[in-house]
Amino acid sequence: MAVPKRKTTPSRAGMRRSHHALRAEAHNECSNCGELKRPHHVCPQCGHYDGREVSTAGRALKGTVRV
Ligand SMILES: [Zn+2]
Repeated sequence: MAVPKRKTTPSRAGMRRSHHALRAEAHNECSNCGELKRPHHVCPQCGHYDGREVSTAGRALKGTVRV
């Protein structure tokens, strides 16, 4: 079994983990109701997309933006 030659120092571990932070989800305001929604997705609050209603209003859809 392969075994590390040296102990990983706290500094090295910190340098590796410097890339592990999560980034904020992309989001826009809905042009109809102003609620936050994911870009290029139907608004989960009002069911509008591109200025028209395409889905039942108020229906819980996947992809609700959590900020
Ligand atoms: Zn909306």
